[in-house]
Formats: sequence, structure tokens, C-alpha cells
Amino acid sequence: MMEWWEEWEPSEEVPDKIYDLPVDYDELEWWERRDVRKQYIKEQQNMCFYCDERLDQDAPEYITEKRIDWDLFPSGFLDHPIHLQHDHDTGMTEGAVHSYCNAVMWQYEGR
Ligand SMILES: [Zn+2]
Repeated sequence: MMEWWEEWEPSEEVPDKIYDLPVDYDELEWWERRDVRKQYIKEQQNMCFYCDERLDQDAPEYITEKRIDWDLFPSGFLDHPIHLQHDHDTGMTEGAVHSYCNAVMWQYEGR
């Protein structure tokens, strides 16, 4: 089973199914997570849910200058630039974020 930090690169095709967001992340198959992430990117007009900067660019410096204890994260955490953030208590998706923002949210805010 895919872990929450494991994401797949978005493919070029537009997903057939439009999801009624938010959705329960734990109920999704990996390709549904990929499509849900793409839908969020589109609905957020390519802006990060967390820092509000463009998702096709790196996270801003005030984010990337924060010290991250990478021992808390699996290797390859930053391999995929855009992650699908979800609430770890309810399991409901929240939005698409930079992978670095995802690390900050987890380490500093427990999200
Ligand atoms: Zn961000």
C-alpha cells in the first residue's frame, strides 16, 4: 500500500472523473490520489495550499530556509515536487502543496 508521502508524477491526460472534494485519502487508490492531486492543482490555479506560491516552481525561501530534520522523513521524500496534503486525524484531503511545504507542515505543525 502507498504511504502518504509516496506520490506519483502527474500524467498528461486529464482525469475522467471529477472528485467531490475533500475526499478520504485513506480510501483512495494510488491513481485516484494522483488524479485528486491534479484536480487540486487545477482548482487552486497552480498555487500551493500552504504557502500560496506557484506549484510549478520551488517553494519560497522562507519555507526552504527552515531547518528540516530529514531523519523524520523517508528517503526520496522530495523526489516528487508536489504532494497531496491530507488531515492526519480525519483522513480528509486538504490540497496540493510543495513537497518542502509538506515537510514543514508535518515537522512544525504536525499536519
Ligand atoms: Zn508551498
